[in-house]
Amino acid sequence: MTLPHPAQLPEETLDPENWDEMRALAHRMVDDMMTYLQSVRERPVWQPVPAAVKERLHQPLPLEPESASAAYDDFIRDVLPYPMGNIHPRFWGWVMGNGTVLGVLADMLAATMNPNMGGGNHAANLVELQVVDWCKEMLGYPMQASGLLVSGGSMANLLGLAVARNAKAGFDLRRQGLVAAPRRLLFYTSAESHSSVQKGIELLGLGSESLRAIPVDAAYQIDIAALAAAVAEDRAAGHAPVCVIASAGTTNTGAIDDLNRLADLCAAEGMWLHVDGAFGALAALSPALRPLLAGMERADSLAFDLHKWMYLPFEAGCLLVRDAEVHRRTFSLTPLYLAHGGDRGLSAGEVWFSDYGLQLTRGFRALKVWLSLKEHGAAKFGRLIQQNVDQAQYLAALIDASPDLERLAPVRLNVVCFRFRPPGLDETGLNTLNQELLLRLQESGIAAPSSTTLQGRFCLRVANTNHRSRREDFDMLVAAVIRLGHEIVQQDVLV
Ligand SMILES: *Cc1c(COP(=O)(O)O)cnc(C)c1O
Repeated sequence: MTLPHPAQLPEETLDPENWDEMRALAHRMVDDMMTYLQSVRERPVWQPVPAAVKERLHQPLPLEPESASAAYDDFIRDVLPYPMGNIHPRFWGWVMGNGTVLGVLADMLAATMNPNMGGGNHAANLVELQVVDWCKEMLGYPMQASGLLVSGGSMANLLGLAVARNAKAGFDLRRQGLVAAPRRLLFYTSAESHSSVQKGIELLGLGSESLRAIPVDAAYQIDIAALAAAVAEDRAAGHAPVCVIASAGTTNTGAIDDLNRLADLCAAEGMWLHVDGAFGALAALSPALRPLLAGMERADSLAFDLHKWMYLPFEAGCLLVRDAEVHRRTFSLTPLYLAHGGDRGLSAGEVWFSDYGLQLTRGFRALKVWLSLKEHGAAKFGRLIQQNVDQAQYLAALIDASPDLERLAPVRLNVVCFRFRPPGLDETGLNTLNQELLLRLQESGIAAPSSTTLQGRFCLRVANTNHRSRREDFDMLVAAVIRLGHEIVQQDVLV
């Protein structure tokens, strides 16, 4: 019997019609990207996107095919020449990594296999488990901990705080929700902690009023006496203090809270200790810096990035949780169509990462971590981190030696805050001057720091997580800041 069938449309696929052409294009892409990476130092750090290009990046939806090579030509013309700049040796804005060459190729290999890392019985799952174990080893975190790779520090903080909230609520929060809370659940962090902490607290339904911002001392570390007093006061008022969020490397200045004392306090108070070590946690890879992080291994949960101070391409962050069962209980939910376990078939596998986070479908970000650690070894990452800290100290010394410049915070790790400071200007004048200076510096294409404001003073902020920077790059930065600063003063644009 023959089945009736509709008008014969040829069946289609998204695979290339001509594999030889696609292979040639692939080779061209790899060649172009290697050239691009190799010559990064020769280009400006950043330049604005020209109006004509903006126009071309604002087109209607293509309905008909253009061909892969024509699409690639558009990329080469309109996208590649106007980067954010963070792969450049003189980019030090916010806290960003450069990416690595093998990381680029790793993402291609990962996308080729395209496994779903939600779970399952396949090698990629084992690679992520291996990578999570290596992360514990690198940071000295207990090996029985659970963990998973996530998009970055923000997501790692959110998931860690969700575990903390559920673990310490004292009732079945997953089932009953926060409306069942007999008392307000309170979280404590320093006034210098990252905005993703507050975003996480808000998203978890706790409300930003449940996050106490404790003042910092002169070293920008959380004031532990003030913290202890706040906890005591809140308890006396009938609230439930549940968690301290410590910073291992604040964004503003790189300050590291006293993690051992915070762990002691949390142990005494029965509170959860979450450490946000987005970039700073990785300093543990340098033997000289590791003591700064003493106590980090005592955290109940630890969030950090691999795309900042491990220099890997975006996105890659990690969350580790000391008590794997508490971690799993926060996220695991297994409908019939996701039934898994046992030791046979595709649904086997001892760990399904979807039981430990929010994502079900997950990408194979573990591959770039795995390949990179094999390529370089963890010790080399430690040396590069130390190199970045040494460079930050070098920059601090250049600033301190210049009568035109003023450093505005201690340099603990890799973050340097400073400003151009000619005589005769008040604080408002200095702020306006340095704001203009930063824009001119970025527009010059010479270097790209970002900014922050410390005690009302606008500063240029260099956060060095750059494996391509050399000492001479900091000489260039300082020379450009001084030149542009004097130029602005002479043009009198401020009055
Ligand atoms: C960057 C950063 C984050 C957020 O991490 P993302 O990877 O950008 O999501 C959190 N905390 C600190 C201290 C950071 O520097």
